[in-house]
Amino acid sequence: MQIGIVGAGASGMMAAIAAAREGAEVTLLEGCRQIGKKLLATGNGRCNLSNLDFDANRDYRGHDTGRLSGWFSRFGVRETISFFESLGLVLIDKNGYLYPRSLQAAAVLDSLQGELFRLKVRQITDCRIVHIQKKKRFLLTSGQGTFSFDRIILACGSSAGLARPDPPDGFALAGQMGLLTYPLLPALTALRCRERFFGALAGVRCQARIDLHVSDRVYSETGELQLTDYGISGIPVFQLSRFASEAIADKQTVSAVLDFLPEYPKETWDAFLTKQMRVFLGKPIRLMGCSMLPAKVVTTLMKLCGIRQEELVCPQNQERIRQLFQTARALGVTVYATNPLRQSQVCMGGVALSELDDDLGAIRVPGLYLCGEMLDVDGRCGGYNLQWAFTSGYTAGRAAAGGSKKAERNDYDQNTTA
Ligand SMILES: Cc1cc2nc3c(=O)[nH]c(=O)nc-3n(C[C@H](O)[C@H](O)[C@H](O)COP(=O)(O)OP(=O)(O)OC[C@H]3O[C@@H](n4cnc5c(N)ncnc54)[C@H](O)[C@@H]3O)c2cc1C
Repeated sequence: MQIGIVGAGASGMMAAIAAAREGAEVTLLEGCRQIGKKLLATGNGRCNLSNLDFDANRDYRGHDTGRLSGWFSRFGVRETISFFESLGLVLIDKNGYLYPRSLQAAAVLDSLQGELFRLKVRQITDCRIVHIQKKKRFLLTSGQGTFSFDRIILACGSSAGLARPDPPDGFALAGQMGLLTYPLLPALTALRCRERFFGALAGVRCQARIDLHVSDRVYSETGELQLTDYGISGIPVFQLSRFASEAIADKQTVSAVLDFLPEYPKETWDAFLTKQMRVFLGKPIRLMGCSMLPAKVVTTLMKLCGIRQEELVCPQNQERIRQLFQTARALGVTVYATNPLRQSQVCMGGVALSELDDDLGAIRVPGLYLCGEMLDVDGRCGGYNLQWAFTSGYTAGRAAAGGSKKAERNDYDQNTTA
């Protein structure tokens, strides 16, 4: 059984290891000069590879996420931990987020590469596959010539995060095999907003709650908001971005409401504000604002509310101060776009899961398997996308090798021993 895997990212490497462990003869074909390049950029170079707080229904989106729990039950977070520990990689958990102990993504890549080497997986780099064809065997065409294999795994990822992706991508290859692909849109990315005041807010990082309004639905996240000269960013915004992406593509109106003081319950807010006004009586309103909020935010909000910098906290200004803080708790902004795919961490959309069986084999193209980000599955920030790459890579690799002679012999041996 000769298996060709197109793409040596997280999912392709895992697929190669799973298939080679089953006894298949595996070749990894990678378009870049180096394997696992994107892996090195993950988690700001620290590689957040999975998460102990895991719920497939909550953490993943796509058109058919009901099927995900089946794959995660075969190879989930526990199996990922055991897998890397068996390769000698020491992991740590930061509030559930799993990283290599060294906090270096290179350590994850090294451990995968070591196992690929041990299993004698052939690696061909600088080898972009431009065409795929199924005759008796699969034929893959590249600048380095044509390769033929019994089975193929497409693990090409997406162009998310890539400044200049080389065409064709894996979706073009999937298209050559007649597979249905949902439109690819940016996810885990920043949102661009119309308001001019963002220019003055660039560089601010603060706790906030963001309510994203799409038609009559509201999606909420709380966390560290990053303000840029064009809009909003940071993990809570990334988590919401796929909903904005989908709605904008659908020509729907998208807006967001920012609460810069999310930890103060609405019920006790009034009393707290009254107390603060008493403390700051006779002092500049700006000072009172800066006791709770970043200075740039205070200046911008004061401008929006028509309060001059030198105005003081006094009984006559009480209503305007309340209005100022009301704006701080519910600043409405209009979202007109997401950042493009090249500035996103993942893409949403991809090859429809309905094209695949439970082994991630293409139903209409026997012998063809797919895994990783190419599929119509996108996870939240927090290690969920790499977990999907490992889960799907393992599933596809193991299944593709299922027909290998050695695997058959092993199964047979086990059956006869039993
Ligand atoms: C900046 C950034 C940070 C991220 N941080 C995290 C994180 O901390 N945690 C997390 O879970 N996820 C993170 N992600 C997402 C995660 O990296 C991806 O979901 C994951 O790498 C997908 O794995 P993959 O194997 O499907 O695709 P990739 O890792 O993209 O690998 C695909 C490979 O296929 C190759 N290829 C493509 N087309 C061809 C072709 N035609 N011929 C040959 N080779 C081809 C590509 O060169 C590439 O090496 C991050 C993403 C980015 C961009």
